[in-house]
Amino acid sequence: MVVPKKSLGQNFLRDENVARNIVQTIHPGRRDAVLEIGPGTGVLTAYLIGEAGHYIGVELDRRSLELLRARFPSATFIYGDILAVRLRDLRIPENLRLRVVGNIPYYITSEILFWILDQRQWLVDATLMMQWEVARRLTARPRTKDYGILSVVLQMYMTPEIRFKVSPNSFHPKPSVESAVVHLEKRNAVPAHSEDLFRSIVRGTFGKRRKTLLNSLRSMGYEEDVLRSLRFDLGRRPEELSGEEFLELSSELSRHVPLTT
Ligand code: SAH
Repeated sequence: MVVPKKSLGQNFLRDENVARNIVQTIHPGRRDAVLEIGPGTGVLTAYLIGEAGHYIGVELDRRSLELLRARFPSATFIYGDILAVRLRDLRIPENLRLRVVGNIPYYITSEILFWILDQRQWLVDATLMMQWEVARRLTARPRTKDYGILSVVLQMYMTPEIRFKVSPNSFHPKPSVESAVVHLEKRNAVPAHSEDLFRSIVRGTFGKRRKTLLNSLRSMGYEEDVLRSLRFDLGRRPEELSGEEFLELSSELSRHVPLTT
C-alpha cells in the first residue's frame, strides 16, 4: 500500500469500473505505444499493459515505482517529472502510434496540457482525467464564461471532447472537486502561423477580458496607427472571437508589425 501524498497530487482511482471505462474510451491496440502519466498504484496500468503494443509509465513517486516495477516486470517505468520528458527522446518504435493517458496530478493540469501541445508532433491523442472545471474550460465555446486562453489555444491544435464525468467517490482520497475524462485528438491541417505570436495575442487580450482588443493591444505595445490600419474590428472583446478569428488577427498583425522577438 502506498499512503497518498498530497504534495504529489495523489488521488488514486479506486473504482475499477472507471479504469475500465477509460481504457475502453482509448481502446489501445497492438500498434499503439501508450505513455501513462503518473501510474501511481497501477489501477489503469494493468489494463493498458494488457492491450497496448508498448507501455511506458512516468512516475515521480519512488515508492510507487518500486511496486510497479515488481508487479509489471516487462513494462518500462521512468522515474521523473512528466514535464521534463521529451517525447522524441523516448525512441518509440516508428511503426507505433504514441498515445498519452493518465489520471493526472491536478496541481499541474495546465502545465501538462501545454506540455502536450508543445509536443503534439510526436503523439496522436491524449486521454486525461482532470478537474471538471478545467474540462469545461477546455471545451468552452465563445461568449461563455468558461471561454478563455486555455479554450482558444488548446482548441486550435486539438479537438477536446468530454467522455464522462467522474465522482469524487471514485478516488482515494476523495478530491474536493468533480472530475471528467477528456479525450484530446490532434487536429491535422492547422494553417501555418507563428504560434508564439498567436499565443501572445490570446494571452495579452484575455488578460484584460473586459477590455476591447484595441485597448489591450495598445497596452501590449502595438502602435495606435498600426492597429487602426488592420482589417479587423478591434472594438470587439476577446471572448467574442473564435480561434480562427484570433488566428486572422495575429496574421494581420504579423503582416503590419516587424517581428521584434
Ligand atoms: N494513475 C493513478 C494515480 C493518479 S494520482 C491512479 O489512477 O490511481 C497522480 C499520480 O501522478 C501520482 O501517482 C503521483 O505520484 C504522480 N505524479 C505527481 N506529479 C508528477 C509529475 N510531475 N510527473 C509524473 N508523475 C507525477
